[in-house]
Amino acid sequence: MARFIYSPEYYCDIGEHVFRTDKYGLLHDKMVETGLVAADDFLEPEPARRADLALVHTPAYLNDLFDCRHTRRTIYSEIPISRQIVEAFALGAGGTILACRTAATQHTFAMNLAGGFHHAFPDWAEGFCYINDVAVGVRAVRHDGLVGRAMLVDCDLHQGNGTAYVFADEPEVFTFSIHEEAIYPIKRQSDLDIGLPSFCGGEQYLGELERGLLGALETHKPEFVLYVAGADPYAEDVLGTLALSIEDLKRRDETVLGACAERGIAAAVTLAGGYAPRVADTVRIHYGTAATMAELSSSLRTRSDD
Ligand SMILES: [Zn+2]
Repeated sequence: MARFIYSPEYYCDIGEHVFRTDKYGLLHDKMVETGLVAADDFLEPEPARRADLALVHTPAYLNDLFDCRHTRRTIYSEIPISRQIVEAFALGAGGTILACRTAATQHTFAMNLAGGFHHAFPDWAEGFCYINDVAVGVRAVRHDGLVGRAMLVDCDLHQGNGTAYVFADEPEVFTFSIHEEAIYPIKRQSDLDIGLPSFCGGEQYLGELERGLLGALETHKPEFVLYVAGADPYAEDVLGTLALSIEDLKRRDETVLGACAERGIAAAVTLAGGYAPRVADTVRIHYGTAATMAELSSSLRTRSDD
């Protein structure tokens, strides 16, 4: 059975901003209202422990962050810094760790209804990202001895630059990012990058995704996938010009999670970006990912099926 992780404390006040932190609560409520997941079935995260964060981030950065200090390490963030914001990010990272541990120990699919902050580097914040929960989650399950070979499948509109940097010298962790080439960020080299042209539509996107993903699964043979399911490749997104419809994004989710289910690969999922003019569209895209996950988790093969 697929598992979902959520806390109302994921919300934090960052002022008038393109990044809608209320999307987490709206997604949760939609999932409950439609009966996709019963309210009691959500798992509650704990804030990420300092020791887990230190698997990726430097002590100096964590000191600046948790003291809410504007320094050269925190200044590249494009959101404000406050106690509530830092605590919400730490809780969101705890949710991603819980999703990774749940997926790995129960051999299932598990989604954190937050996370995906792939632009944070070990020693500095970037974009809307203070804690690279994606990298922390993968490092945590590897550190626990739950996972050997892992793969990042990053389908956010933006390249997973922080994550690529973190795992550059860790051959057991394969980083795959498919993104719009011509926009933020300055790229770091992933194990596989597919930089798409602006205005790329669903058909080309899905063809490139399938080619890249299936090839990488074949060569790397991961036992665990962390899927960064950004909603921002959407045609109406204000931060980019990829031209996927909500239907195309559903097919993207089916491609990634279907490939995992067929191969018996446990997967954790994080939300990442999504900046549609109507927040309801962003929520609908994330809901599609959750529904696909719930549906495909029942066909996830056990490792002994081979
Ligand atoms: Zn993004």
